[in-house]
This record gives sequence, C-alpha cells and structure tokens, in this order.
Amino acid sequence: MWDLLTRRQVIHRAFGAFALGLGMHRGLAAGRQLPDRESTKFEEVNENHQVDRDMTVAPQPPIMGESMPDRWNVLPVRALLLFSPDPPDVDLFCRFVREVLPKEGVNVLVLLFRYRYKFRTHPELADRAAIGRDDVKKILEACRAAGVKLIPKMNLLAHQSEQTEIMPLLKHFPQFDESPDLNPPNPWHPNGQFGFYTKSLCPRHPDLFSMIFPLMDELIEACEADAFHVALDEVWIIAHDRCPRCGGMDPAEVFGQYATSLRNHLAEKKCRMWMWSDRLIDGKTTNLLSWQASTNNTHRAIDMIPKDIVICDWKYEDAPPTPGYFAVKGFDVLPSTCYKVD
Ligand SMILES: [Zn+2]
Repeated sequence: MWDLLTRRQVIHRAFGAFALGLGMHRGLAAGRQLPDRESTKFEEVNENHQVDRDMTVAPQPPIMGESMPDRWNVLPVRALLLFSPDPPDVDLFCRFVREVLPKEGVNVLVLLFRYRYKFRTHPELADRAAIGRDDVKKILEACRAAGVKLIPKMNLLAHQSEQTEIMPLLKHFPQFDESPDLNPPNPWHPNGQFGFYTKSLCPRHPDLFSMIFPLMDELIEACEADAFHVALDEVWIIAHDRCPRCGGMDPAEVFGQYATSLRNHLAEKKCRMWMWSDRLIDGKTTNLLSWQASTNNTHRAIDMIPKDIVICDWKYEDAPPTPGYFAVKGFDVLPSTCYKVD
C-alpha cells in the first residue's frame, strides 16, 4: 500500500479532530497532493518516482503531542464540521468562528444544515432550529474575517428519520420515501447493524431532483459556496425490493447514478462535491461492517462516480488504511476523525 501511494505521489495523513464543542459531529482533516520531487520527513520521491529511504525502517506514524500544530498547519485543508447554530446562538457562533478557529488553524468550516434552514422555495421544510439567510450571511462574514471557507452540508439520501421521528422532507413529501412500508420500530429498540437505522430518499423518483436542487441552490447562494457536502453516508435502505423504481436494481448502480447526478448539478453551479466515504467501502471484506462501510452492495459504485468528488473518509474508532484506497482510485481524500486524535 505504501509503495502504491508513493508511486502515485500521493500522501495523506490523519491528524485527528479536536473537541471544540458547539455540537461537533465529525472533524475533517486533509489529504494532500504532492507535486513532483517534493519531499517530506517521511520519504523522498525522485524523478523515477522511486522511494529513497531506508527500507529496513518502517514508516513512522505521525507524532502526536507538542509537534501536532506544526504538522496540522502544513495541510491545505484543515476542516471542522459543526451543526448550524440554533437561532439565538448565531452571534455567539460567529464570535467562536472569529476567535477560536484561527487559533486552532482551521481553514474550512462545514456547516451541517439538514433542515435547519428557512428555505424560501419550501418554507414547510424548516425545522424548529432553522436559521435564515441573514444569519448565514453573518456566519459567512465571520468566516471571511477568520480566513475560513464555508461549505454547506445536507443529508441528501439517508438520515431522513431520527429514531422514530420522520424528518421534514419525507414528512411533507412521503412520495420520496424509498421504503414506505418499512418504518422505525416504536418504541425504538436499537438492534445494531441488523435493525432499522434511518429512512432514505428514493434516488430514482422522477421528481426528486426538482425538489432538492433548489434547496441545494439556496444554501450555495447563502454561503457563496464553491463546494457542497452531500453526505450520502450510512445508506442502509437502497434499491429496496418493494420500491417500484429501484426494486431489483444493482444498489451500486443506483448509488453511483445518484451521486453522479448530484455532482453534475453541483458542477453546473461551479461547486465541488464532497461526500462521506462509507458506501464506497466493502464492509464485508474489510470487516468494517455497516456504518463506516457498506454491507449492502453499494461499494462497487467507487468505480462509477466522477473522480473529482472529494471523499471524506470518516472513522470514529480507529484508522484503517482506507484513505489510501481512495487515493489509489484517483480521488482527493480527507481523512476524517471524531472522538480520537490518533
Ligand atoms: Zn426507489
């Protein structure tokens, strides 16, 4: 794996997230493209793209602790993911952006809206904690003052329910439910990877894009964004056998076509698509199972989607070498951590 990575002149390192509070969900650290002949402390790449290093010494993992800030600051993307603030907390949130993010070296803020936004095209989708366009403009101003790029995020496939609560899009437009016959157990009984998790949209519903594209466009305009995070994580319900459009189809094909359509729309808006990695990893052969990888046969979609999508490879507990897998496939990849710094 190491040799393949260096041959492609790609290096990436996970440097861990940091607990900054305010509802942090997942931290994103950066992948890095190495130009020709650039060297690091870890290896040097010569004209023939061969590695010049002592092969008797195993590559060392990044050193954590006091040297961490130096190493973190060489990464081009040093991102933090947070939920959008509740309406009364917008000013406090802006102060946090201005005062804390520059000190921590953060240069990208991914803001997870879900339905916490007062959409003009669909006001009925705004949930209780929705903020408005003016609030987002305030956050954008704070980000600019802090030298931080703002990227909006919505969950555009799964996570359309939370335990037994159906989220606004499917509540108001149940026709987009991939599995109307399959509902969260009430009362909720978690049953691990064999239980119900979250509802999904039907990615092949003919009216879905005319519903979600305007929502995306509103967030792009409010954030003045040149990138958009579409999530696509933890999709357990896809190509559901009772969906009249998707039943019997290859889940990888359904997933790949949907991701490509989102990417194409974002490309028209001059936005680069970011997405989570888990549906593109085979959870059975890697033993990464059903959350941080796919056990429902979507993983072959990795060869069906455009390579300009940025893959955010999240892991909560450990650091398997999956960022290298995406890099070898030709993607830019951001190793993304949460609870642990190493
Ligand atoms: Zn469907």
